[in-house]
Amino acid sequence: MSLPDDPADVTAARGLAPLNGPIAVVNAGSSSIKFAVYEALCRETPLFRGQIESIGLAPRLAVANSGGEPVAEQSFPAEGFDHRAATRQILLTIVALLHGTKVSAVGHRVVHGGAEYAAPVRIDPDMLTALGRLVRLAPLHQPQNLAAIEAIAEAAPHLPQVACFDTAFHRSQPPLAQLFALPRRFTASGLRRYGFHGLSYEYVSSRLAELAPDVARARVVIAHLGNGASLCALRDGRSVASTMGFTAADGLMMGTRCGTIDPGLLVYLMDEYGMDARNLEDLIYRQSGLLGVSGISSDMRTLRASPDPSAAEAIALFVYRIVREIASLAGALGGLDALVFTAGIGENDAATRAEVAAGCRWLGLALDDARNESAATRISTEDSAVSAWVIPTDEERMIACHTASVLTSGIVSSP
Ligand code: ADP
Repeated sequence: MSLPDDPADVTAARGLAPLNGPIAVVNAGSSSIKFAVYEALCRETPLFRGQIESIGLAPRLAVANSGGEPVAEQSFPAEGFDHRAATRQILLTIVALLHGTKVSAVGHRVVHGGAEYAAPVRIDPDMLTALGRLVRLAPLHQPQNLAAIEAIAEAAPHLPQVACFDTAFHRSQPPLAQLFALPRRFTASGLRRYGFHGLSYEYVSSRLAELAPDVARARVVIAHLGNGASLCALRDGRSVASTMGFTAADGLMMGTRCGTIDPGLLVYLMDEYGMDARNLEDLIYRQSGLLGVSGISSDMRTLRASPDPSAAEAIALFVYRIVREIASLAGALGGLDALVFTAGIGENDAATRAEVAAGCRWLGLALDDARNESAATRISTEDSAVSAWVIPTDEERMIACHTASVLTSGIVSSP
């Protein structure tokens, strides 16, 4: 549902207290925590935006204001500086940068909401316990998401916090798209396809609806290509299928995750290599993907710059998997009208976009090379049957909008 231009009108009309201070957004990843601070109404540009990266290695804080100018930078010793410490540091930095203005709420990206949470919610202690049970389903992210929430609850117990789930957007998928071909008792106990990157898809599809409303209502695949990578098939702006499944390890090849793999291979690795669950987890989440195949790096920029044939093969496999999965989602949609690229690789790597588009030529996608090189918003030719787009994602803004809505009106918002 869309919010009216000024959510304060909604809160006033309902007799609810408006949020009278800025909203902080915390997006805790495996080795970094991104954050942003928005005015109470979720404006497009945050007051400032920053991150602490390389947690565990060489933690470094960097913050920029709304004009992109640096306003804070600091390095920290790696030892003892975990996600909780980093979150506390972020809170201190925000307090200092706001010069006495009080934050009214914190919104978090939480990767897994399970079957229970299909919309953003205000966090309470019972809910934290429930979300803790989902850690095994997203071991790279869920512990960090929860650590950030707990660190803020300890430092500021009365500050309202809202969880926004990466799985929630996919709850609109038809039952078949969520079903594994496993015995029913497993499905009944929650073993189903959940899908992830939902906040990104929700934001990008809302931007597509602003840019090209007719396209947004049609059969669209959004390619979220970052360190984590997935595709989502949408019809009328709602998720109908995605490449990620029960965990965020499924689907596309990623920076360090293998994506879809023959399930029998995992059994073989247990039998022949004596691997246990933790060994397999490390293999499929942290040692595979672009890093595993290249033997060089999980970072696309490094691989593009490398003369090593293994780097080229890793990129070729990454693209090949994307092309195959786009065709699979086109099957789920009954055709394809638009393909949208987003996230670090999708927004910045023209070569990956060109290679994916070449693999989708048979579907009717004709790329305009000049537009692609300049990362124009629409990068297909005027007469392309399938249009192609580059739309930068903004998960933080989506979280800020949801947080404002949950705490003021209870309405789930669009940016
Ligand atoms: P995440 O948020 O999942 O950690 P990002 O969306 O930031 O990841 O994407 C990171 C990926 O984007 C890395 O592989 C990085 O190399 C790639 N990337 C970022 N900028 C560029 C660029 N200019 N050209 C090519 N790849 C890029």
